[in-house]
Amino acid sequence: MTTTSSLAFQPVLERIAEEIERTPGRGRPADYIPALAACDPRRFGMAVAEPDGTVYGVGDWREPFSTQSLTKVFTLALGLAREGDELWEHVGREPSGNPFNSLVQLEYEGGIPRNPFINAGALVVTDRLHTRSGDASQELLEFLRAESANPGLDFDEEIAASEAAHGHRNAALAHFMASYGNIDNEVQVLLDQYFRQCSLTASCADLALATGFLARHGVRADGARLLTRSQAKQVNAVMLTCGTYDAAGEFAYRVGLPGKSGVGGGIIAVVPGRCTLCVWSPGLDEHGNSVAGVAALDRFTTLTGLSVF
Ligand code: GLN
Repeated sequence: MTTTSSLAFQPVLERIAEEIERTPGRGRPADYIPALAACDPRRFGMAVAEPDGTVYGVGDWREPFSTQSLTKVFTLALGLAREGDELWEHVGREPSGNPFNSLVQLEYEGGIPRNPFINAGALVVTDRLHTRSGDASQELLEFLRAESANPGLDFDEEIAASEAAHGHRNAALAHFMASYGNIDNEVQVLLDQYFRQCSLTASCADLALATGFLARHGVRADGARLLTRSQAKQVNAVMLTCGTYDAAGEFAYRVGLPGKSGVGGGIIAVVPGRCTLCVWSPGLDEHGNSVAGVAALDRFTTLTGLSVF
């Protein structure tokens, strides 16, 4: 089936939801904090947003969930908008081939993380955005509220506190990079910022809409430009190569779209010029990517023929 008109998205989503419902084996929710461990792996929602803000959805697509690392896409975009190419002097843009919370490459790369989507890289991006904006998490929140047209979006203080209580590895990453001079703020200030961002709660509908600027080549929902066309291309490219960690090759192979996962079970994806997607199902594979989420996106690009390849 090839999608020629946007209305065809709704039947595609319904077909995918039926297929996912019949599929056994959903993976396991993240268990490093209690709030995520308690999620039911059979929950499933998926939304598609068109560049004009029309949104389609199925299943739990209006149910708020823990966005976790999905926010790394938005902080990268906001960081690039404020700082431009200088940002790339502090964080690389190569896939790491290692888990999202890995420390191993940092030492021989002199405290410069491989890319903005592993935790080390996201900490650096947040640090720089915080210095430039005065409050990185507030800037992120305002951006997401505006782009999703949902002023009710917010952080979940309980999750943020839980992240902090279990955040030894992120603290180690931040201190280690600070020892190389690659962190500007006090480490504790940076960690509070990072954990708050991870705790942001939003639905598939909110996130598909908020990702729209990447399908509109850098233009926000109100028509203002956030990124140059070239910067929007760069963010999409880094999502494709680094957005699903050490499974980015497999994700490109199966889905063929720029995508970014979070351990809350969400994945956002972009069909440049055409639409943005968000899928949520809390059961994860061994890389921290949603099992049903990857399967649903795989089916979407197969059924519609919409991929970047
Ligand atoms: N809060 C998580 C962490 O920092 C986010 C990781 C993720 O979603 N991949 O470990």
